[in-house]
Amino acid sequence: MVQTLEKSAELIEYSKNDPVMSTRLAGVCDLVAAEACYHPPCMIRFERQCKQKQPSFAEEGQRDFCLNQLCFYLIRGLGRGHVYDMVDVRSTYEKMCSDMA
Ligand SMILES: [Zn+2]
Repeated sequence: MVQTLEKSAELIEYSKNDPVMSTRLAGVCDLVAAEACYHPPCMIRFERQCKQKQPSFAEEGQRDFCLNQLCFYLIRGLGRGHVYDMVDVRSTYEKMCSDMA
């Protein structure tokens, strides 16, 4: 049984990167209230898999989107004679990604 809200939030967060779990937990926001149960060995395996997982497609997509936008602005700016500092460009990119998240 999921007994703490902390555990519930963690599992819901993990499930976003797992197609099966995200389908099963669709619309569930509190596993304690939902009285969710699990097999301890399966839970350990699930958590291990999730911790090893690469960023989700959504995160990758957001990064690609930010990079495309950044390139668009840079190319347009360069065409108008602007000069960019790579450190600023990088921090702008990081900020765009974190704003998207
Ligand atoms: Zn099981």
